[in-house]
Amino acid sequence: MNLKTVGRVPASFQFLHQIELSDLLDIFLVFLTLRYLLGALQGTRALQILQGVAVVLMMLLLAHQAKLQTLNWLLNWFLVSVAFLLPVIFQPELRRALMRLGQQGVLTSSPLARMDKEELVPLIDELAYAAYQLGQARMGALIVLERETGLKEYTERGQALDSLISSKLLISIFNPKTPLHDGAVIIRGSRILAAACILDSFHDQEADDRFGTRHRAALSVSSQTDCLVLVVSEETGQIRFAQDGKFTKPLEEEGDVKKMLAQYLVSGPALASRGSISNPIQAIRNMRAKKS
Ligand code: ATP
Ligand code: MG
Repeated sequence: MNLKTVGRVPASFQFLHQIELSDLLDIFLVFLTLRYLLGALQGTRALQILQGVAVVLMMLLLAHQAKLQTLNWLLNWFLVSVAFLLPVIFQPELRRALMRLGQQGVLTSSPLARMDKEELVPLIDELAYAAYQLGQARMGALIVLERETGLKEYTERGQALDSLISSKLLISIFNPKTPLHDGAVIIRGSRILAAACILDSFHDQEADDRFGTRHRAALSVSSQTDCLVLVVSEETGQIRFAQDGKFTKPLEEEGDVKKMLAQYLVSGPALASRGSISNPIQAIRNMRAKKS
């Protein structure tokens, strides 16, 4: 140990004196931003691409150190090309991240979010009953529940309805003998805005291999926006929810659909994706019983 440094800050740590509060704030904000970005990219192809870019950067560093000029030039050229391509490659992820950033705000415009918990009970009951009956009758359905991100672009593609949700209406819409059964129903708050809406569906090899076009459309719209999608399979009668581009496990019982809907709409998506065993719908009913 250098005796000169005992009792005072060693020379290599002198820079600590120069750190100001704003620098700490700066580091903290960079940390939060990186954490947010990595969180948003978790499980997406964007993260894999970033890992690839990190590998190329490391190779570039090694090539620079070892003075391998041709490799250095090639990797440099490659990175510059990738930089130009990144906004194109990441377009869906960037779009999603920016939309999510906008949704962190304090202004909640979604009628669904503003609905009283008691108002959600009939909505949940009607939706779950319709989904169950549709599944039993092997009638396919695609129901999109709008949240903060407006789905106007989709509703405009379909048949405008603007009617109160009812299981009878939903079952009628998805009856394959009726003209409106093809496409998605869009719900805002407690109203069916439109039926026969065609959703954008992106290409994802894994989803393409596993699912048909209805399920792929559900994955796409739920990954691009914060909506909740309910899908009933015409082939199997299974009911699934899609959120954040992921499906829940298939549900077959009406009670399970109710529970899952309640967890998504009442307790929040985090709880629903953890598959909590609590029963929020029962909690709301208890609350109502106490009041009356
Ligand atoms: P199922 O399990 O019900 O068969 P699937 O995922 O296998 O569903 P398909 O069999 O291809 O899907 O279902 C086709 C139907 O899904 C279409 O007739 C249409 O009603 C609906 N659909 C498919 N793509 C879209 C889309 N992009 N937007 C809205 N509805 C769609
Ligand atoms: Mg099919």
